[in-house]
Order: sequence, then structure tokens, then C-alpha cells
Amino acid sequence: MNVLVTGGAGYIGSHTVVELLNAGHNAIIVDDLSNAKADVIDRIETITGKRPVFYKLDCKDKDGLRKVFSENQVDAIIHFAAFKAVGESVKKPLQYYRNNLDSAMAMLEVMEEFGCKKFVFSSSATVYGPNNPHPYKEEMKAIESSSPYGWTKVMIERILTDYCTAHPDFCAILLRYFNPIGAHESGLLGDDPNGIPNNLMPYIGRVAAGQLEKLTIFGDDYPTPDGTCQRDYLHVVDLAVGHLKALEYAENHEGVEAINLGTGNGISVLELVHAFETANDMKLPYVIGPRRDGDLPAFWADAGKAKTLLGWEATHTVEDMCRSSWNFAKNAGK
Ligand code: UDP
Repeated sequence: MNVLVTGGAGYIGSHTVVELLNAGHNAIIVDDLSNAKADVIDRIETITGKRPVFYKLDCKDKDGLRKVFSENQVDAIIHFAAFKAVGESVKKPLQYYRNNLDSAMAMLEVMEEFGCKKFVFSSSATVYGPNNPHPYKEEMKAIESSSPYGWTKVMIERILTDYCTAHPDFCAILLRYFNPIGAHESGLLGDDPNGIPNNLMPYIGRVAAGQLEKLTIFGDDYPTPDGTCQRDYLHVVDLAVGHLKALEYAENHEGVEAINLGTGNGISVLELVHAFETANDMKLPYVIGPRRDGDLPAFWADAGKAKTLLGWEATHTVEDMCRSSWNFAKNAGK
């Protein structure tokens, strides 16, 4: 298939492009490089021996998208491009709604003009909101979130669902990710956010590299076994393979399908910190700080639907995730 990957130079996008190319698909990347570096395209080529077509383009630019569709036969879309910092979204809601909703809408409108009918969407476990019990199952109500970022995911899921109702020959797969961490085994691709990281693993990586002094664990008084929050961390390469499986499913199906991509296991912040120390034979300086606003105590996936429908399940261990994260972080920026 010829697959247009928006945000394909980003963390999950770049790993997905590698899996697409390795599986014999063609990838066309659209990325404005607002939170990614241009040399990711070279790195993808180094890993796969194939160079994806690349357009430096804002996904809200419909004329730009039309040019991409005119110059390439596009069979399917994987839409990653979005602003993704939860905390920032609370401070800048209009920017988040404008950017994330407009880019999805622009893509759908241009897809319609060009008759493209397969859409894999980068959604999030955040759509389960604060009130569902875990493990989260796809049939639960997923109609609220705790941040503008999360609400954009809820809204785009809704838009895609309504679009599928109106166009029964369209296929939209809503992939609800849990917490991707880890990096490509080459050490060439990984999570390298601009500025001080918000997410746990890139923060740990910077502490391990001596670029940040210590990790602050946000709260140890949650109702969990060790008092720190539990999440379902999965290896980004497993997540990338999940996209490949979703595409293959979409090729032969119509309608909308929400699918969790997680391991089905909860791990606490402290457990992850200790797993990182053991995997990489080092000590990580950390302190316990206050809770972070908006954090839920614990959630993880019911991963059964991905297995039944896509034949996908996570295969990497927590140790793999910690080792590959450090393998990338120690060289990041060099
Ligand atoms: N966390 C932490 N210190 C940090 C960053 C994150 O203790 O510097 C915790 C956070 O409270 C949450 C977990 O790590 O329990 C995962 O947070 P992250 O931001 O990576 O992902 P989220 O689950 O919020 O999407």
C-alpha cells in the first residue's frame, strides 16, 4: 500500500514508517517539523535502506495536502500529526482545538476529494476519561477527557464515527494508545522532545544522561500498591507494528473500529524507575513530589480486542523498553 503518514517524523510516526517500509509498503511523510527533526528522514533511510517521500507541510494546509495527493497514489492515511502536551493544552486550549481538529478535518476533506477511504487515527487511552474502571475496554463509554488535548481525541473519534455513518464504504480505525516508551534498537529513533520533557521516560533519559539533576515522582500517596501511579507502558516498536496490523485490517474492512493498543499490565512509576536502574546498571536520583494535576491513579488496557481482531499483541518486555530508551537517550542530540 501507499501510506500517507502525517507526523511521520515524530516519535511514534517515525517508528511506524520503519515498520511500513520493512513490510514492503511505501510511505509518504507529511510533517511540519514543529516537534521533530529533519534528520529523522535520513535515519529512517539508514535503518531501512529506503527513503520515504517527505513533504514539510502543515496538515491544516489543504492546498498542500491536495498537492501531495496529486503527486502520489495514496491508498491509506495514518494520522499522527497533532499537538500532544497535556499540560500545555490546558494553558492554550484554542491552539490545541484549532490545530488538532483542523488538521484532521482538512485531511478528511482532501481524502474525500481524492476518493481515499482508509484512515488510521492516533487516539489515546485518555478518551476513557476519569470515571471508567480499569482495565479499559473498547465498549466502555469513551466520551470525555481531562484536558483539551484529550478532548481533541474524543472529538476526532466522534467526527470519524459520524463520517463512517454517512459513508459506509469508509474505514476508520481509532487506535487508543496507552503509554508508549522505548526506542528503535538502532538507537537512531526515539522520543526526543524539544525542551524539558513532560513524559516520564524521556525525563528519566535526561536524568540518566546527567542533563537534568533528578526525577520528581509526582505523588506516592495514591491508592496503588506502592503509592505511585500505575500505567500500561508499551514498547514503541510494538505500537508501530500495531499500526501496520490496523492498516492491513482496514484494507479489507469498512466502518469504524476502536482498538486499544497496550500490554494489559499496569506498572507503577517506582517500578519503572527501578526497572530502568536494573536494566542499565545505574542509579537514578529521584525525589517524591506532590501529585500532578489531572493524573489518574491507575489505568491499563484490556488488550483482548487487538489480539482477536488484528492478531496483535505486545511482545517486548519492560526491560527491553528501559534498555532501548537509554540506548537512544545516551546518544540523543549527538
Ligand atoms: N511522572 C512522574 N514524573 C515525571 C513525569 C511523569 O512521576 O517527571 C508520572 C506521572 O505522574 C504519571 C506517569 O509518570 O503517573 C506517566 O506520566 P506521563 O506524562 O509519561 O504519561 P501520562 O500517563 O500522563 O500520559
